Amino acid sequence: SRVSVVTGAASGIGRATKELLESRGERVIGVDIHDADVIVDLSTAEGRAGLADGVRRVDDGPVDAVLAIAGLAAAAPPTVAVNYFGTIATLEGLRPLLAGSPAPRAVLVSSMAALMPTDGELVGLLAAGDELAALARAGELAQDPATTGAQIYSSTKLALDKWVRRQAATEQWAGAGIPLNAVAPGIIATPMTADLIGTPEARHALLGLVPMPLNGIAEPIVVARLLAWLTSEENTHLCGQIVYVDGGSDVVLRGDSV
Ligand code: NAD
Repeated sequence: SRVSVVTGAASGIGRATKELLESRGERVIGVDIHDADVIVDLSTAEGRAGLADGVRRVDDGPVDAVLAIAGLAAAAPPTVAVNYFGTIATLEGLRPLLAGSPAPRAVLVSSMAALMPTDGELVGLLAAGDELAALARAGELAQDPATTGAQIYSSTKLALDKWVRRQAATEQWAGAGIPLNAVAPGIIATPMTADLIGTPEARHALLGLVPMPLNGIAEPIVVARLLAWLTSEENTHLCGQIVYVDGGSDVVLRGDSV
């Protein structure tokens, strides 16, 4: 059966994905800072460097899929470290383990938040791979009284989308037979959003900003099913796409601009 590595496996979308794959008889190696097979802190260089060895210690055979789901939504610098640099380190660090799989797959979790206002300077520093400068810029944004760091999260997700677009068709991914894609969820009911959707008034206010005309706020299993398909053997040709699973937020916000 297939073996997948799932980061963020202790909670929310990552946990739902792990449970879905396991319910289908597949094997999942969960990665997280707590309650996981491999405990690593993806915000640190040390944690990222230990990831592949940690996975190998649990299972030294080939890995069939890497699902980079771990993320933070705090309007603060650690969000840059986990969402952008942690995600890319996961995909690049584990890519060699995919080499032995007959059907290798990779996916990361972005967000419809990438459609919200972002900070061009931060997005540029992320694209340049300059973590120290990106953390410093996020620190500045967090102190900005006008935006209070709201653009940090959206900027990390936009930068991930751009990374997928730059990488997917290269030798390392498509050239190695690995479909690389992203999913962009709308509002999902997980611990990350619990405070934002805890009351009817809060839900109403949030859906004013992030409209979800098709079925509203979603459970994490909704995203898990898409992640499972994107990393299944069935996905042979979907490549470099940012797939919105957002109840229509993208359609409402971007209309017919494709
Ligand atoms: P969650 O908080 O329930 O789960 C996130 C997981 O990531 C947690 O288990 C956490 O421990 C782990 N994590 C955080 N920092 C880490 C670190 N330094 N090292 C290792 N693991 C770490 O949140 P979720 O809603 O399930 O979010 C999962 C992904 O989905 C994130 O990338 C998030 O940005 C994205 N997303 C969520 C929503 C939503 O509405 N919930 C919407 C769009 C995108």
